[in-house]
This record gives sequence, C-alpha cells and structure tokens, in this order.
Amino acid sequence: MSDSFQPQTDEDRLKCLRELTEFTEKCKKQLHDIFETLGWSPDYRASNSNQEPLEQCPYDPDHRVPAKSMEKHKTSCRLRKMGYSAEEQAEMYDPSVCYENIFCFCLTDKATQHQVILQARSAAPLMKMEGVFWQGQYSGEAVDVPQNHKRAVCDLTVADRLALYDHVIGALGQQKEGNKDDLYVDLVSKLQKDDKQNEPKSHLELIAEMRDYKRRRQSYRAKNVHITKKSYTEVIREVISVHSEELARQWKEEEEEESQRSEHSSHRYRSLMFRSRIFRCGRLRPVY
Ligand SMILES: [Zn+2]
Repeated sequence: MSDSFQPQTDEDRLKCLRELTEFTEKCKKQLHDIFETLGWSPDYRASNSNQEPLEQCPYDPDHRVPAKSMEKHKTSCRLRKMGYSAEEQAEMYDPSVCYENIFCFCLTDKATQHQVILQARSAAPLMKMEGVFWQGQYSGEAVDVPQNHKRAVCDLTVADRLALYDHVIGALGQQKEGNKDDLYVDLVSKLQKDDKQNEPKSHLELIAEMRDYKRRRQSYRAKNVHITKKSYTEVIREVISVHSEELARQWKEEEEEESQRSEHSSHRYRSLMFRSRIFRCGRLRPVY
C-alpha cells in the first residue's frame, strides 16, 4: 500500500479496496482494545457534554476548573501566586476549620493587618529613641498576610510583629472577659439553691462541698480534743456503765411482764440463772 502503487485494472482496484477495508477494520479493533484497556469512551464529545461547565480561575486566566472544585483551586492558586511551594501549603492550617465559640483568631485580612500596623506606627515616636520602636521601624506599605513563620519573619518587621501580637492579645483578653463569671459566683447560695432543686451538681460545686466537709471534720476534731485525752480505764468504765443501764432497764421490763403473767417458777429460775451467768462473765454487780 505505498504511494507509488497505482491500480490499473478493476480487479486491482477491488483488491486494493479489500486490503484497505481489512486494514481499517484492524486499526478500529486495535483502537477499541486500547480504549477498553484504559476504560475510555471512544465518543469523546458525547462524554464531555455530560460534564459540568468549566470556570475561569480569577488568579490565572489560563486555568479552567469545574465549579465544584473552584474554591479549593482558588485557595491553592492564590498561595502559589504568592510564592508558597506545595510543601509549604501542605503544612498550613485550614482557617475554615475553627470551632465555634472557641477562641480562634486568624489574621487573614490584609487591610486589617495594615490598619493595626498603621495604628501602632502613629502611636510610636517620630525620631529614633532608646528602648522603643520608632515610626521608621514599621512597614509603610500593606503586605500580604504571612501564612507561615518564615514569611512572617521576612515580610514583617519586628515592630510590625509586636503590634500584631499586641492586637491579638488584646482581642483574646476581650473574649476572656466573659469567662470570668466563675470567679464571682456565690457558691454557698448556689449550693443551697441546688439542694432544694435536687439538680445534679457541677464539678465546681462538688469540689466546694468536699472542701467544706474537710473543714468541718478538722474543726470537729479540734473542738473535741478531750475525747482523745481520756484514759483507757475511763473509756471502758463509761462503756460498762452505759451497758449496765441498758441491761437494768431490760430486766426491769422483763420482771414486770413476769409478775403480770404469773408464770411458772422454772422460767423465773432460768431467767435468774441467765442473769447470774452474765454477772460472772462481766464481773458486774447485780442490779435489782
Ligand atoms: Zn488558578
């Protein structure tokens, strides 16, 4: 099938046509196999028309990105235009992942950053002074917000960084103002109130209760020193006297019952025997 081949007769032409047909069929089959292996569709236009339309990147007109992934691309593309490498980008935090109501101060605004620096600059002395930053040590022009430490050191002066630090600390202090309530709570009234309402106690209240309990215990110990000053004999004597009183009371009750019922004498005998046995063991004087 070279260019020099010139079919002369009809037969040659037919033969050539058959060969060409076979060749194209063979090529078609090869292409089909390749598409099959790669999982592609030969009908490129048909498949492409189903895809969502591409949008132009605001940072580079040559970039065309699906709308779905535009935000992600914009973040990355912006950082790339600012000169951050892929490695640096990978190390950066995602400012969109900030917990609600928890302090998260992100200086992501170039104008705010410049404003803070200008304010500090206007408050600084005009001429060079010992021990303080003067106006010449602040950045005059607005710079992009540094996204990592290296950039912060390169793009901002020491005076700039101190001004931003003070600004962030100030904002942090304002947020913390609201969290000082615990310091001024009247815990005693709160505990009494909670006792009435039978609500579950907070950790703080439990700690306060434990503290009061320990104080009471120490106070009780201190006030009752005379208990521990008694000798062993004195303590035992008190115990015996208390027990004797109790037994005397019980026997008196028993005797009254017996006399009322006029029971059998053997029962009374047993009772007397029981009593004398205890007296012997306890070495006590019988109480009648
Ligand atoms: Zn882009």
